[in-house]
Amino acid sequence: MNESKSSRVRGSLLGGICADAMLAGFEGGILERGLWKLIGKTSQGRHRYTDDTAMNLDIMDEYLENGEIDQDRLARRFAGSYRWSRGYGPDAGRILKGIRRGVGWRDLNRKKFSDGSFGNGAAMRITPVAMISHFQNYPLEDLVVQVSEITHCHPVAIDSANLVSRIIIGILNGHSLPEPIHCACMSVETDELKSAAEVLAKHLDDPFPVSRFKEKFGVGVASFQSVPCAIAVAYSHSDARYSDLISACARIGGDADTIGSIAASIWGCLNGLDSDIVTGMVSVEAHEIIVRKVQDFEMRLCS
Ligand SMILES: [Mg+2]
Repeated sequence: MNESKSSRVRGSLLGGICADAMLAGFEGGILERGLWKLIGKTSQGRHRYTDDTAMNLDIMDEYLENGEIDQDRLARRFAGSYRWSRGYGPDAGRILKGIRRGVGWRDLNRKKFSDGSFGNGAAMRITPVAMISHFQNYPLEDLVVQVSEITHCHPVAIDSANLVSRIIIGILNGHSLPEPIHCACMSVETDELKSAAEVLAKHLDDPFPVSRFKEKFGVGVASFQSVPCAIAVAYSHSDARYSDLISACARIGGDADTIGSIAASIWGCLNGLDSDIVTGMVSVEAHEIIVRKVQDFEMRLCS
């Protein structure tokens, strides 16, 4: 892997993880923010990461240990890492607790919603998957479905994960924004995400201010809201500092940690391992282990 691609991989993964930890305290309403004030820091005063990072780490671990993604083994790994205090969505939490009790994920992922969850939980963990596909020539769509459907089998959730992964791959292929976003939007298949992708495409041609993102995209956990919103944040801050992108996500609120995590993964893939990310990571829980894991993952990708 050349130095620039190596920096993009590390910048993307660590950028997303750092954003997740920094922004967890800005998610949701008074109750969620109040709870995070109580449990959001470790005893050493470091920012705790949330479900977004936990699942990205699980995927990296799965690949590092086995050189491939085995769906059932990954499901057990997701379940093993589950902690209620990481802020998993209620449906994902129910599925993961069920898997821990020995129930198969196929018997759980459509139990609450007949089509499965359309939350943003698939898109938020798709960056390492896009990288595995890009560097190891795995068919992207197959891999995205395998990793997503364990907890998020709704077509809109999978479509959103495909959207993010295609943008990451477009950037890794050397394209600068907005081209990869335009291309990825054209591949969207579901009606809900198509409508949001049209708004996103309009934003690329004639950008509207971040203060209108909530009204234009929505900022909730539904993947057709927060995922296009995150992509718009990444685009509107592609030439800005990483710290400015984080501040913008904090102001946007809603599902701030996931919006930030996806936006920062795209930003990091564009701009590489920026000094703001390196500095920010020092204040994140278990940062030494995480940085080493991301380095190992990046090296394994080109082996
Ligand atoms: Mg989260």
